[in-house]
Amino acid sequence: MEMMPKLKEYKMFIDGEWIESESKKTFETLNPENNEPWAKVPEANAKDVDKAVKAAQKAFEGEWPKLMPRERGKFLRSIGNQLRDNAELLGKIETIDTGKLFRETKKQANYIAEYYDYYAGMADKVEGTVLPIDKPNTQVITTRIPIGVIAAIIPWNSQMLLTATKLAPALAMGNTVVIKSSELAPAVMFEFAKLIEKTGIPKGVVNVITGFGDPCGKSLTTHKLVEKIAFTGGPNTARHIIKNSAENLSEVSLELGGKSPVAVFEDADQENAINGITAGIFGASGQSCIAGSRLYLQNSIYNEFLNKLTSRAKKIKIGAPMDDDTEMGPLSNFKQLEIIEKNIKLTIDQGGKVKCGGKRHAFSNKGYYFPPTIIECENHNLPTAENELFGPVLSVMKFNTEDEVIKKMNDNQYGLSSGIYTKDLGRGLRVSKAIRAGITFVNTYRLISPSAPFGGIKDSGYGKEAGIESIKDYTRVKTVWFHTSDKPTQDPFSMR
Ligand code: NAD
Repeated sequence: MEMMPKLKEYKMFIDGEWIESESKKTFETLNPENNEPWAKVPEANAKDVDKAVKAAQKAFEGEWPKLMPRERGKFLRSIGNQLRDNAELLGKIETIDTGKLFRETKKQANYIAEYYDYYAGMADKVEGTVLPIDKPNTQVITTRIPIGVIAAIIPWNSQMLLTATKLAPALAMGNTVVIKSSELAPAVMFEFAKLIEKTGIPKGVVNVITGFGDPCGKSLTTHKLVEKIAFTGGPNTARHIIKNSAENLSEVSLELGGKSPVAVFEDADQENAINGITAGIFGASGQSCIAGSRLYLQNSIYNEFLNKLTSRAKKIKIGAPMDDDTEMGPLSNFKQLEIIEKNIKLTIDQGGKVKCGGKRHAFSNKGYYFPPTIIECENHNLPTAENELFGPVLSVMKFNTEDEVIKKMNDNQYGLSSGIYTKDLGRGLRVSKAIRAGITFVNTYRLISPSAPFGGIKDSGYGKEAGIESIKDYTRVKTVWFHTSDKPTQDPFSMR
């Protein structure tokens, strides 16, 4: 009889303790490379959520928000150092759980340390004001105070990054946090929690749980003690989150999906454009919220450019995500594969022409492998050109003029990212200004930085992550009035 390999087991991190779920229920997480379970995690229900939120609330009432800001900054630097020291391990676990390439996950774990450093440096730089008030014998100041317990809801892709952009500013400003990892790839968040514990941060300041959208996510986002929900995920879940926030009247920030357009003008440096487009849609197998999945090519270069791009796509090396020379690994989960296949079929039925890919890859019949796919579409209302697929599928359309492509690029419900390839600086500036999206890349694509605000408009959500302003989103303004005269105030019955 074949022996099943032993599953790795994780516990939740609540109030500085490693605990099972109250119901003792667990669920298995799959390795997308071979579709086999490899780890077991506790499944949090409403009681576990309550425990985590109460631990965070207790920590918020304790020493944490009262620490000198620079002291909190030291904890953030320590988290960053832990990430650097353990980047290989974190990368490996994230790769096994999500299928994302090890060459990217390892590098990212290292780079994400910079986000903690960035916010550590900001902890003691958020200042208040003294107001030029219109009353005699009065001084009014404003300060920035922490909000309280923050619920961070994380999707399965780029979890380390999407956690950092919430956790780091939240902690810097003295909030406490309950992180809910995605049920589809929860393991790396528990490895991360082990590193948090090593920093010696006070108990309950950071809690990490996992479970399904309902009951875990729902009970967290409706919990009376939660004051802010920082959400990254899909637009349908976001609609639930907003409804949930009606229960506890918490503040909400939403980082949602995208269907980001990219335009290549006839004067573009074609080799550079091909590299950028490849990074934008085939990097991470297209499972990126900023994936450049709608491509508009100027008519005069359409055939030539599309052929070059297609031959580049065909050369992409598909393989095991741990291998150093692999360029595309498996998709993260079976649901993704099904959504992609369904949309491609509908698009072909409506006249879309597949230039490459389009069918499940033969590399492994067990894993969720899907090849780089390019589809020519008569118009951008075909399903692959209109819907977020979260996969390596590029829909290609034609355009003639600058005005026409601007209209086309803006004609979608989302507004997260966008790209333009042209050597004409004036055109780069004009088009980037006209595109209704939170981010525009000109002659490049798929870059992130702690200093660069990230987030969308329209159905891509609201609230920016990263960048200097984002730290204020983890504070509220408090106004304090001082009576400065040594004489009593007058007339208690008239507001002054
Ligand atoms: P998802 O919306 O299915 O899930 C996100 C998280 O929400 C998970 O942890 C899930 O358990 C939780 N959840 C589900 N139902 C809930 C409920 N009723 N209440 C509370 N929480 C609930 O998203 P996903 O499939 O994990 O991730 C893919 C999506 O995320 C894509 O749409 C992608 O574009 C988006 N995304 C956006 C960004 C960004 O920064 N803009 C980054 C990465 C991913």
